Amino acid sequence: MRPPLSPALADLLAYLGEIGYGDVYLRGAAHDAALAGRAAAEPSAARRSPPSPSSVPDGPPKTEDSAERAAQLAALAATVAGCTRCRLCEGRNKVVFGSGNPDAELMLIGEGPGAEEDRQGLPFVGAAGELLTRIIQAMDLKREDVYIANIVKCRPPGNRDPQPDEVAACRGFLEKQIALVQPRIIVALGRVAAQTLLGNETSIGQMRGRWYRVHGVPAMVTYHPAALLRNQALKRPTWEDMQQVRDRLRAG
Ligand code: URA
Repeated sequence: MRPPLSPALADLLAYLGEIGYGDVYLRGAAHDAALAGRAAAEPSAARRSPPSPSSVPDGPPKTEDSAERAAQLAALAATVAGCTRCRLCEGRNKVVFGSGNPDAELMLIGEGPGAEEDRQGLPFVGAAGELLTRIIQAMDLKREDVYIANIVKCRPPGNRDPQPDEVAACRGFLEKQIALVQPRIIVALGRVAAQTLLGNETSIGQMRGRWYRVHGVPAMVTYHPAALLRNQALKRPTWEDMQQVRDRLRAG
């Protein structure tokens, strides 16, 4: 007989059904993680399902325990690995779901994988990623402390901007990642991430350095690390933006 699903995993599967993944098979690590998460989540009758993205709370406490949220992220990653919702699946080598600490207080969101990310299946591992790692370290954090994701999970050909239908196809995955990680602060890296998350067409120069709300979570906009590699003058304003983030994190 099939074991009962935890409420949280049932919620995730229902969500996947809503966005077109009605038949989800959990295998390997994701399956084990999901089961481990179920065990960790029980037997509390008071445990709640993850909030919808629009009701993500501003700061702790997180509403699911760590193992449960890690299990759900693993299950979501396993589903996204087979995604064919848009044309970007045709040219990809690997889906770049996201990486980092499922308990992260800080979530950094970029635009989409580049060539190296597509090869490794991990976000921000190319030249821009090395710079991002240094920025994180300059904030007195470690890369493994934060959670890193992208607007689209597959590499757009030639590193072009993702197109609106590609962003729309992937959006639910990122929203679910935000809802599961429940970060205290989000940083949108660059124009595409900021415009997508804020739903506007404002220039990055106007958006950067200010606080917004993304699904209830305080969000800072700053320049994309790749832009800093092209234009050294952007390093100072970016560091000022990230200092604001660091200070707000420290303020608790
Ligand atoms: N640029 C992005 O926006 N995301 C990555 O993962 C890598 C480069």
